[in-house]
Amino acid sequence: WSSDTIAVVTGANRGIGFEIARQFSLHGLTVILTSRETKVGEEAAKVLQEGGLNVVFHQLDVVDSSSIKLFADWVKQTFGSVDILVNNAGVNFNAGSDNSVEFAEKVFDTNYYGTKNMIKALIPLMRPSASGARIVNVSSRLGRLNGRRNRIGNLSLRQQLEDDGSLSEELIDQTVATFLEQVNDGSWTSGGWPQVFTDYSLSKLAVNTYTRLMSRVLSGRPEGQKIYINCYCPGWVKTAMTGWAGHTSPEEGADTAVWLALLPEQFVSGKFFAERREINY
Ligand code: NDP
Repeated sequence: WSSDTIAVVTGANRGIGFEIARQFSLHGLTVILTSRETKVGEEAAKVLQEGGLNVVFHQLDVVDSSSIKLFADWVKQTFGSVDILVNNAGVNFNAGSDNSVEFAEKVFDTNYYGTKNMIKALIPLMRPSASGARIVNVSSRLGRLNGRRNRIGNLSLRQQLEDDGSLSEELIDQTVATFLEQVNDGSWTSGGWPQVFTDYSLSKLAVNTYTRLMSRVLSGRPEGQKIYINCYCPGWVKTAMTGWAGHTSPEEGADTAVWLALLPEQFVSGKFFAERREINY
């Protein structure tokens, strides 16, 4: 890896995203540290720049399509292409409760649609290479399809989401839309949705499922133009999102993202990881 390798990290002004940006730059990459707030993003980038690291800042709000477009245009003009995209930006409004459905729309817009729109915007900019470009989605074990406590109760829907043959973008979007409709009409509690951190868990389930789907879609690309896409759970990490509770540091939480993005040569795609190991969806 060298400064010719360009890595984009979303929501990188703090927490796990900042750490991913820092670790990439320690590996010698050129890192585009993005944040929805220009001032805090510039300050975060400055901390790394003052440490001699190769980091540039650009504003990026993943729920704002014009911000995504401006960002993609700037990347194209400035760098021509990117090698790595880490979709880290995320929100979670479950402050100690089992759901925060009143914020569900914002949670899906950021965690799922934000991730998806970034992938769509940057795929055309991903640099062809023998070892492949990489996309890493920061997800959560809470989004497992078959979590013990936390799975979707509707067996038929779960099977459709599990089955690569029936999986489609429409199915994932429709699942999200059905949940949001039920939130709006108050019927979601009997809908068989995940029991713990319901809206957040479902947003990460959508991210995981979209990762599997995109891996299949991207697998058709010719040799030399491959893009590998995976997702991972950083563990329970001491950041603002958890009120600095958790078992692990942001440094440890960032580790698997950096490892996945920098794996040499032939590489897995469409898988879910934690602590540098593959885990079940
Ligand atoms: P933080 O709350 O510290 O960081 C979240 C980051 O996402 C912030 O930089 C935030 O920006 C940014 N963000 C939120 N909305 C947007 C948006 N619309 N556009 C751009 N950036 C946005 O939390 P973490 O570092 O803990 O979380 C990082 C990722 O890790 C998330 O995807 C989270 O779901 C995931 N995760 C975290 C776990 C944990 O235990 N901490 C466990 C499992 C997964 P701003 O500062 O402006 O709010």
